[in-house]
Parts: sequence; structure tokens; C-alpha cells
Amino acid sequence: GHPALADFGTTIFATMTQMALEKDAINLGQGFPDTDGPPEVLAAAVEAITEGRNQYPPGRGVPELRRAIAAHQERFYGLTPDPDTEVLVTVGATEAIAVAMLALVRPGDEVVMFEPYYDSYAATVALAGGTRRTSVLRFPDLAVDEASLRAAFSDRTRVVLLNTPHNPTGKVFTREELELVAELAREHDAWVVTDEVYEHLTFDGARHVPMATLPGMVDRTVTIGSGGKTFSATGWKVGWLTGPAEVVSPAVSLKQFLTFVGSGPFQPAVALGLGLEDAVFDGMAARLAGQRDRLVAGLRDAGFEVPVPQGGYFALADASPLGVTDAVSFCLELPDRAGVVGVPASAFHDDPEAGRTVVRFAFCKKDEVLDEGVRRLRTLR
Ligand code: PMP
Ligand code: GLN
Repeated sequence: GHPALADFGTTIFATMTQMALEKDAINLGQGFPDTDGPPEVLAAAVEAITEGRNQYPPGRGVPELRRAIAAHQERFYGLTPDPDTEVLVTVGATEAIAVAMLALVRPGDEVVMFEPYYDSYAATVALAGGTRRTSVLRFPDLAVDEASLRAAFSDRTRVVLLNTPHNPTGKVFTREELELVAELAREHDAWVVTDEVYEHLTFDGARHVPMATLPGMVDRTVTIGSGGKTFSATGWKVGWLTGPAEVVSPAVSLKQFLTFVGSGPFQPAVALGLGLEDAVFDGMAARLAGQRDRLVAGLRDAGFEVPVPQGGYFALADASPLGVTDAVSFCLELPDRAGVVGVPASAFHDDPEAGRTVVRFAFCKKDEVLDEGVRRLRTLR
């Protein structure tokens, strides 16, 4: 096989979802909502199909979606990407991450990222022939460690791959933390690729700060978003990247040979969604905040130590108060012991000690599913 892929057999999410189906367990492992998003967005997809928009869309994405992505960036963040040259629609954020890495990283280049990190980061950096250098966000405070971040940079640093709001920790990076990352990127003349798929899913007044809005950063930043995350339609696989034409252009070329195009009728639906009023975005975040509260309270009640996530779909829970010393074996036993599936945090780490007793649980689930999951977890005490 491809040497770079030796370590990347089956994703932890596929493994855990398979396990949940086989054991009929409550799936708090893979991050997908079990309730559909705004009905007008769903209706727009049905209409696009009925109208016959079922053939290959243009390579860069349908013009109305590219315009909607640019308008959304301007409306929420004051950014003004050119829809014709600085926007590319992709098959989910996953493809945007891959084309960004393949466009920017040359063999021997280094990519700085925080760990825990989303699993596709390591795989796509390896596919591009690059090497990852990580700085650990340590449980439970998950603070940026300036010394280790500085040490991760070198004269080979080509890209910083950032994710805020963050999967799996629920951390929303502060402006100060982002300024440090920006300063180091400028110092090393590096690009920042920033995965902002949970941009609208923040809680308790935590504000998402896009890297591209920091002074001097828009010209070296590639921003990634996801219609699946934003509108609770993860199966639609509509993502995008925005950034300088010098990166978007090679990304467009690369995409031709990965998927060519994708998600035709879902593109106009996501375009409509991005134009919906603020109340729709706020409503989705408020609902998710309630689900977060429900899961965090329940996990604490079941004996886990749980910091409160400020964004995204996930909570990290330390199982050591339950006597757990290794979250991997705990998660493998959990479907049988309690009928629940979670993901060991170590799946997102290079450092074998980091997150050893920590489990990631998804809270983007119906109240009754969260309640039943928590009820089952309480039986572990
Ligand atoms: N980035 C992060 C941080 C994610 O959690 C996910 C998974 N949902 C993705 C990217 C992939 O997004 P998409 O489903 O749009 O490909
Ligand atoms: N992003 C989702 C998660 O972190 C799952 C996506 C996937 O299965 N690749 O659970």
C-alpha cells in the first residue's frame, strides 16, 4: 500500500458507528445530528431536484452558492472574498482540507497543528508528503502552551492547520490565542488553513473569531466551512474554502481529479440557507447549547469529570473517577457494558499520554437519546 497511509486503516468514527449498529448501542461516538435542520433548506434541495438540477455543477461550484458564501463571509465577518476567484465549493469540508493540504504542502514541508486534532489532518498531510508538528492542548484546561507552540515551528513550516471552534475539545480559540498563532505564522512566512466548520455553533456568548479577520492575515489564510455542519445535513457533503486566488486556483485544479464536482442539487439549498436571517443561526446554536447542558450534567452525574465545551458537537469526559486507566479499552467495552458508544480522545492525539482516560461524547442528539445514554452510563458507577 501507499506508505503514507500505513497508519490510517479505518477511521475511528466508522469503527465506532459500526459497533453502535451491531450492538444496538446509543451512538454518542460519531458527530452527526439526529434532527434535520431548517425546513426551508430541505425544501430548497427537493425543489432543485424536481427542477432538474441533477447533472454536474460547475467545477468551482454553482455561482449562486459561491456568491452566497462570499456574502455570508461579509455579513458575519466583514470579509470580502471574490466569488469568481477566491471561493471553491468542495465535497464537504473534508475535501476542502485535502485540497488545501495538497495545494500548499510539498514533500518535506512541515505542518503545525494543535492536538487533539481531527483525524483527516494527519492523513492529508501525509498524503501531501508533509510532516506534522503538534502542540498539545492539555485536558482539562485545554490552554495554548506558548512554548510548545513556538517549538513546533521551524524553517520548514509551510502551513498551520487550525480548527476553531475545535473538535474534539469544544474549545473556541480566543482572539489572543489566535493572535499568537498569526504572529508565528507571519514570522515563519507560513499559510494558515483554518477549519471553521462549527463557526455558528458557539455557546454562552463565546464568539467565533475567524483567523482571516486578524490584521494582515487575509492574504495568508485559507478558511474552510461546511454546509453539513451549519445546517445539520452532514450527508449532503457541501463544503467550501475561501482564500487568495493563488491557493484557490491550484485547489480548483486538484479537485478535478479527486471528485471533479459534487452535491449538485444540495448546492443551491446551502446557498439559500446561508442567506437565512440571524435568528435561524442563533436558534440552532441555542438548541445545541441546551443539548450540551443536558449531556454535561448527565455525564457529571454518572461520575465523569467534564469541562464545559464552548462550541461544536462534542464534550470531553475524563473517566478516571470511574476507575478507568485506559479510555481505548473502556470505549471498546462500553457497548457491551452499558450500551453506549463514545470515542477515546487518544484517537485524536500523537502524544500517547495525552487524553489517556478521556472519552469524547457527541451531544448533537435528541433529548431522549441523551437521557437514555446518560441513564445507561450511570449504571457503570
Ligand atoms: N472538520 C472538522 C473539525 C469536523 O469535525 C468535521 C466532521 N464533521 C469535518 C471537518 C468534516 O466536515 P464535512 O462533513 O463537511 O466533510
Ligand atoms: N466529524 C465527525 C466526527 O468528528 C464525523 C465525520 C466522519 O465520520 N468522518 O465525529
